[in-house]
Amino acid sequence: MERVFAEGDRVGVMLTETLGRALSGCLDYRAPEGGCGTGDFVEVPLGPRRMLGVVWGPGDGTFDAAKLRSVARVLEARPMRAELRAFLTRAAEYTLTPLPAMLRLATRAPGLGEAPGMRRLYRLGGPVPNKLTEARHRVIEALRGFGGAGLTLGELCEAAGCSSSVVKGLVGAGVLIEAEAPRDLPFPDLAPQGGVALQGDQIAAADALVAAVAQGGYGTTLLKGVTGSGKTEVYLEAVAECLRQGRQALVLLPEIALTAEFLTRVEARFGARPAEWHSGVTQTERRRVWKMVSEGQAQMVVGARSALFLPFQQLGLIVVDEEHDTSYKQDEGVHYNARDMAVLRASICGAQVVLASATPSLESWVNADQGKYLRLDLGARFGTAELPEMRAIDMRNERLPANRWISDALAQAVTARRAAGEQSLLFLNRRGYAPVTLCRACGQQVGCDHCDARMVEHRFLKRLVCHQCGATKPVPEACPSCGVEGRMAAVGPGVERLAEEVAERFPEAKLAILSSDLFGSARALKDKIEEIARGEAEIVIGTQIVAKGHNFPLLTLVGVIDADLGLQGSDLRAAERTFQLMRQVAGRAGRSGDRRGLALLQTHQPEHPVIRAILGGDEEAFWRAEAAERRAAGVPPYGRMAGIVLSGSDVAKVFDFGAELARRDGPLRRIGAQLFGPAPAPIARVRGRHRVRLLIKAEKTAPIQAAIADWLAQLKPPGDLRVAVDIDPQSFY
Ligand SMILES: [Zn+2]
Ligand SMILES: [Zn+2]
Repeated sequence: MERVFAEGDRVGVMLTETLGRALSGCLDYRAPEGGCGTGDFVEVPLGPRRMLGVVWGPGDGTFDAAKLRSVARVLEARPMRAELRAFLTRAAEYTLTPLPAMLRLATRAPGLGEAPGMRRLYRLGGPVPNKLTEARHRVIEALRGFGGAGLTLGELCEAAGCSSSVVKGLVGAGVLIEAEAPRDLPFPDLAPQGGVALQGDQIAAADALVAAVAQGGYGTTLLKGVTGSGKTEVYLEAVAECLRQGRQALVLLPEIALTAEFLTRVEARFGARPAEWHSGVTQTERRRVWKMVSEGQAQMVVGARSALFLPFQQLGLIVVDEEHDTSYKQDEGVHYNARDMAVLRASICGAQVVLASATPSLESWVNADQGKYLRLDLGARFGTAELPEMRAIDMRNERLPANRWISDALAQAVTARRAAGEQSLLFLNRRGYAPVTLCRACGQQVGCDHCDARMVEHRFLKRLVCHQCGATKPVPEACPSCGVEGRMAAVGPGVERLAEEVAERFPEAKLAILSSDLFGSARALKDKIEEIARGEAEIVIGTQIVAKGHNFPLLTLVGVIDADLGLQGSDLRAAERTFQLMRQVAGRAGRSGDRRGLALLQTHQPEHPVIRAILGGDEEAFWRAEAAERRAAGVPPYGRMAGIVLSGSDVAKVFDFGAELARRDGPLRRIGAQLFGPAPAPIARVRGRHRVRLLIKAEKTAPIQAAIADWLAQLKPPGDLRVAVDIDPQSFY
């Protein structure tokens, strides 16, 4: 039961910031005038500041009663429910994150304590003149990008990068309307409309999901289906049932660029748009979503991984679409995997989880195989037949001239598709123009000044870019090492360079390049994707962004420029990742009439087990073999792993601290865990900080979090040294 505290009672308030003097993050205060209750959002004084916190329960009594300060004010927001508090507590324990940092994830909405009121919004009103200044054009584009509800003056100026006088000028010209609007309007009701014609195994899968939601309680289902098998239609039936039950549904998508297409489908199915939560949403809208979700006035949220921390009133269903996608893992700040946290939250609040993918993560495959998850398979393509035909092009037999990467066989296939009026996709998972810039005089490669990484040339930006820290510099005329001029050379292909080759070989063809960094906004990317889907490009050149569920009906050929690219790392998941990516990309090739789509993989190692598995199409055999290898090695999902990254400005101090930790490994040895390192992290320097890595391996049932906490508690990191713990690391950088 939620406790209620009378004025003056001692309450424990969980802060949203970690503080030295309160390791647990919870401090005692006196309840304010009018009292307060568990879960209340409050503002509390802390030294000269005021801080946001949540009443977590009675105070622990350790703080001197005479010095206790009072809660400054109870915010006008629904109290945080016990379910969410329990979820945050468990998530903090699992990821070894201080609870305040976890709580901060759940309070990321500006002004959430402000009273409802009015605000002035700007939106498009009159006809847009053909001739506009650059600044005015940006204002119009910003409003089009953010939908019809309108933006505040501040948001609009920020989005358009202009001054308020530009906006006022447009109002004066009758192009924009300014109007008072209430803050935080509820979202329109969603009601399933019309029937969707499900077919074949879609019907059985939808029935099973609807039954699970109707029954209530926790459960997880792996919904496996190839691209175009109609996974979305199937899980939207589960959403419909969830809404019929009066509960809220959350759909997580791995990429903002996919949101627009998805929202259109939701609107068609439910008659209105759901709430959106991701980095492209304005601050005002974030506040509205947070508030309405907490009041049960938003039935469905579509969003990025952080939407998992919203204050749902009655969460009934969480869908994690493309559940294998690496973007669900947050690798900065709080390290967590949204897929696993979705399962955790659902198990606490009694909701259903649907993990949807054409190429599930090995973790989910194993969980389904062991019966922990229900598994539903969608075989045949919705409306069409099967996966494309897949063939390897053995690059060892190709004699390509320098700076050419497209084999003749692939070029001929592209030519044939063009003649048939169909689209081809050339896939290369490398952004930029060239991965390496080196000096032909001394052989030195241009590296980042702040990181242990090579600079990648982006010709489109006319700069070298560090993909680790984002630092940029101009392409040097003279070698930074030996000073010789005019000998700097680009080595290897990125998508921009591949596009150059395509333009040379197919001078008449209409090209489109899809790479996440070539678009200033999600809106611009969406426009380009729609253009391609309409057929306004004959050859599409893309990075992994094309693998993520976009539908291109005229695309019948996929050419993978370098199928070996992902296999080169030493990463535990290299085989799994390559398999997933190749299957996803190949799945983009649809059929044309009675002819199957075609996927051609350029490879130097056609006998590699992963390449053979991709070509052979026996996915279950691949997962079984991969699972057997992981089991034999005792690595996830059959064992536990944790990565510890130490970083600091002084390399010797970082290593010394790592060595000292390794010497004191008693708490780890007591649970039978092995410790590896300290060793330089694969990327040994990022943003000027030296990085040293330790890796912990333990049996599946070992209490790894408690042991790591005990182990790290023995030593206080000196100076600016930081310790980051990553439970279940996804990548080893
Ligand atoms: Zn040089
Ligand atoms: Zn860098």
